[in-house]
Amino acid sequence: MNKKEEFRIQNSEARRDIILRAEKLCKTFRNGALETQVLFDLDLQIERGEFVAIMGPSGCGKSTLMHILGLMLSPTAGRVVLDGQNAGQLSDSRRARLRREKIGFVFQRFNLLGTVNAYQNLAIAERVRGNKLDGQITTALEAVDMVDRARHKPGQLSIGQQQRIAIARAICHRPALLLADEPTGNLDSGNTRKILDLFTRIHNEYGLTIVMITHSPTVARAANRIIHMADGRITDAPAESAEHV
Ligand code: ADP
Repeated sequence: MNKKEEFRIQNSEARRDIILRAEKLCKTFRNGALETQVLFDLDLQIERGEFVAIMGPSGCGKSTLMHILGLMLSPTAGRVVLDGQNAGQLSDSRRARLRREKIGFVFQRFNLLGTVNAYQNLAIAERVRGNKLDGQITTALEAVDMVDRARHKPGQLSIGQQQRIAIARAICHRPALLLADEPTGNLDSGNTRKILDLFTRIHNEYGLTIVMITHSPTVARAANRIIHMADGRITDAPAESAEHV
């Protein structure tokens, strides 16, 4: 791409306020002589303030895409531009800083530290990010209605409550983008509904941009836009084999 085209794209993105752009992403895993191509020339754009679900059947490359969008994995070709910064052109340490500052992650298995309480889970994450501890931890716990469980350890919380704490940890530093990988994959249908309602609420109240990866059409419907994926590509039509919650 020449400089003129680059300039034109950046200008139109500034007008539309694109927070995340993936362009011609390819990913091939190489294990010895074995090569597996998982993503094929994948393009997508997310506008600031959107709540988007990326939906597709198991094995279609959703987690690989999420790791690349989350700047945890480099694509074999193509690029990711996050909030105007081309991640591929950054040094490892600047890319890590961009990830820490701009992205909050929510995982299927919560990934909480079991030996410390909910408040300390958030405080440790904030320290790792290099942030001072201030009122933001309480604000984040308030946002997920968990202030009264701040002194509980994860083992003393229900699984729905554990995911609420994980969401508080992800939004505590006010990221530009919340990336959630099968956030309800470990939850029953009642807790799934509550967590999806919580995403809708924090999206509406805080204007947070959310990208949620899921295999479930029911879960995907909580988002305002659904991007369908199949066999490592974005498709127009829903993939056949999507399972239900
Ligand atoms: P999904 O999240 O949609 O279930 P994944 O991104 O986890 O899909 O996996 C997509 C494909 O990539 C699968 O066929 C998987 O076997 C393959 N894959 C993922 N990680 C690796 C790896 N490190 N090495 C080789 N193949 C991989």
